[in-house]
Amino acid sequence: MMTKTDPPLIECTGLGKSYETIEAVSELGFELEESESASILGPSGCGKSTLLRLIAGLDVPDRGSVSLYGKEISTPQRMLPPEKRRFGMVFQDFALFPHMSVGANIAYGVRGSKAEKKKRVGELLDLISMPHLAGQMPHQLSGGEQQRVAVARSLAPRPRLILLDEPFSNLDYQLRVQLRRDIRDILRQQGVASLLVTHDQNEAITFSERMLLMNRGRLVQNGKPSEIYRYPKTLWAARFVGEANQLKVHHVEGNSQTPLGILHFAKISSDAAASMMIRPEEIHLQPPEKGFPGGSIVSIEFAGPVQNLVVRLDSGEDLRVATSPKRIWTEGESVSVVPEHFQCYDDSGERLDDEADLTPPT
Ligand code: ADP
Repeated sequence: MMTKTDPPLIECTGLGKSYETIEAVSELGFELEESESASILGPSGCGKSTLLRLIAGLDVPDRGSVSLYGKEISTPQRMLPPEKRRFGMVFQDFALFPHMSVGANIAYGVRGSKAEKKKRVGELLDLISMPHLAGQMPHQLSGGEQQRVAVARSLAPRPRLILLDEPFSNLDYQLRVQLRRDIRDILRQQGVASLLVTHDQNEAITFSERMLLMNRGRLVQNGKPSEIYRYPKTLWAARFVGEANQLKVHHVEGNSQTPLGILHFAKISSDAAASMMIRPEEIHLQPPEKGFPGGSIVSIEFAGPVQNLVVRLDSGEDLRVATSPKRIWTEGESVSVVPEHFQCYDDSGERLDDEADLTPPT
């Protein structure tokens, strides 16, 4: 017997939007489930805001479709107006009504009797830990407080989905980190689905259960933040979501040599590998030992929870290495390098989907 699964909250299929000659969004497809939180991450100008506008109904796609619970809502014939989608929106510039108090801002979209509105506003003020500020005007609040109110206002009419467009970028660093944790927890606690647009890797990785990585209008990778960070599908993705050491593979006399050893794959031919990528924290350093690639430490940056080192390999390449500050290294010290987790890519920069081993160079 076939089991019927519910259609996803949002499904984008072959979505495309062009502005004159610029393809802002191209052949983009993904699904978002009820209560799920996803981040849309990519460099400035890659089409993130355009995608959000297509989903919100503020723009009409040129190609493809957006569906809500399996029903098409985006074509001119079947356009569901933004106000009927039950999506909340939070923008970078807070966008509160300046002449209304905090309480009135939050109550704005709530339907029902005066008593019901008052109850909902009270709940939301508690949720954002601002019960004492209901009577304040927006200009009397800090940026972080204004953004909390904007989130409460977007949650007030009990939306299905909250769309957040770079909501933390007008705040300074400390506040941004705190507020994104608070807002993430508030959205989870409310069980509301969210789509966060950001160009900040840390924000995308920490805010959501899933990440949609975009470049030049296209979806590069869609997965859990940990999966994309550890198994980036392309070299571009590897560099965009974190620090990456990229090492060339040389094919010499039947061996695929890298500065860290000789590559062997379980299933495919090693000839397919053009480069390997290893993250700084996936490199273990130890006192010099035979059988491991060697090098020496050429620079050290102490950064609190980590030490950022540059190790110059005996073969000449520089490797960035992040280690725990519990063991203090010194400049000029000789070390052996033990790679712990790495990925290999072909000459077009696509990841080779196979387990690889490294044997020490002879
Ligand atoms: P992001 O949000 O990732 O910074 P956008 O979606 O804002 O990217 O923009 C994607 C591309 O589309 C950019 O090249 C931008 O200049 C272009 N673009 C966006 N909106 C318009 C518009 N209304 N008219 C013309 N070009 C636009």
